[in-house]
Amino acid sequence: MDTKRWSVDKNVDNLTGYPQITQAADLLLNNEVVAFPTETVYGLGANALNDQAVAKIFEAKGRPADNPLIIHIADEEVVSDFVEEIPEKAKQLMKAYWPGPLTIILKMKEGVLSEKATVGLSTVGIRMPDHPVALALLQSTNLPIAAPSANSSGRPSPTTAEHVWDDLHGKISGIVDGGPTGVGLESTVLDCTEEVPVILRPGGITAQQIEEVIGEITVDPALLDSGQKPKSPGMKYRHYAPDAALVLVKGEREDIQRLILEKQQEGLKVGVLTTEENESFYQADKVIACGSRENLESVAGSLYDTLRNFNSADLDLILSEMFPDEGVGQAIMNRLVKAAGYRVISL
Ligand code: AMP
Ligand code: MG
Repeated sequence: MDTKRWSVDKNVDNLTGYPQITQAADLLLNNEVVAFPTETVYGLGANALNDQAVAKIFEAKGRPADNPLIIHIADEEVVSDFVEEIPEKAKQLMKAYWPGPLTIILKMKEGVLSEKATVGLSTVGIRMPDHPVALALLQSTNLPIAAPSANSSGRPSPTTAEHVWDDLHGKISGIVDGGPTGVGLESTVLDCTEEVPVILRPGGITAQQIEEVIGEITVDPALLDSGQKPKSPGMKYRHYAPDAALVLVKGEREDIQRLILEKQQEGLKVGVLTTEENESFYQADKVIACGSRENLESVAGSLYDTLRNFNSADLDLILSEMFPDEGVGQAIMNRLVKAAGYRVISL
């Protein structure tokens, strides 16, 4: 399959009507799949009303068939077409954080959306992305668009059109290139079908930000304990993994450096994931600074690119520093722990 590529300047006002957007929208209207930028990561979109279109997403990504897709919309009004009811707390959150990186799970209206997208669940996750290109594309199709991250399943999510191309060219109809994404980690997934809403996946909107608007929330216990079954089907899969084994290391940088030397003496090629603060301290086969500790948003923004960049170094092992488990750090740690397959050691 020929994968078309269009470049769009995301700083242009009202992109609807741009030829690139119109061509991409036409493909979506023809039930083809197209990748596009959002403020979190690149999404792989398809018409959420059509089984065949949605099936193409699963095929291109190699995504497990029981992992539901988030439905993307550009207009809050249409939410009621797809769900039974919108609880007050969900309304308040939409008002506060849409468009933005918050996916809200609600009770689904039967028989409207493709069951392939919602994988037979009685609920549906919906969000409105905060990106001019995504919004223009959604408005041009006037369709609900099912869109997971536009990577091959298991690999780090794509934060540039180049990442999408590396994973999916030849397997999808097009990529709209709007430059690097902003937040760099996926949306927060919040289950609003319970009286006290539950975070199923930490992401771009923090627990604190949600609590500021609706008060008490809880967190799916499986997020803190790998032995428990997660409430969100997708959270049970290994994700975000670089080619080499990744291990998170709790400890001082001197101890981490000692471990690097030890592993090198065993004959392993070792990389280290750190931040600007410690970049020049480490001696390893590959040292990558992922943003700055002073600014955890910068770590979130570069994390997936960093994980992908290790792949070019042909390493056996990557040791990663830890990050504080608060604010956006919760989403960073969630992704790192999963990328590491829960391997965490304390020195
Ligand atoms: P992705 O778009 O691939 O980054 O992942 C979407 C995430 O949202 C996955 O972890 C899904 O399991 C989760 N998700 C989507 N819809 C639902 C739903 N109805 N209930 C629970 N989790 C959902
Ligand atoms: Mg994904």
